[in-house]
Amino acid sequence: MKDKKIIVDEISTAKVSEISPGLIDFTPKKCLACGNKSKIVQRFFLLSQAPKMEGEHKKIKRILGEKYGLTYYGYLEGNKKVITTAKCPECDNEKMDWDY
Ligand SMILES: [Zn+2]
Repeated sequence: MKDKKIIVDEISTAKVSEISPGLIDFTPKKCLACGNKSKIVQRFFLLSQAPKMEGEHKKIKRILGEKYGLTYYGYLEGNKKVITTAKCPECDNEKMDWDY
């Protein structure tokens, strides 16, 4: 089987509201590690193709880690081409209590 390359590119919030508006409301509420609620940095990324199989999530995680140093991401079932990540400014943790 051919290994299709997935391209991950960071996009702006304005772009997200154009292509996946529902994801804007999907926001990190609280850091699960330290409980911090302020200044959590949320970022959005566009994938060249929506992940269809479980293995593709592994690939995306690897690219996200290599390119941006991030590990966890969330997405909407309706549009898996746009993903979002969050990082706590206090402890660098990426696992959040999400509001959606
Ligand atoms: Zn934290």
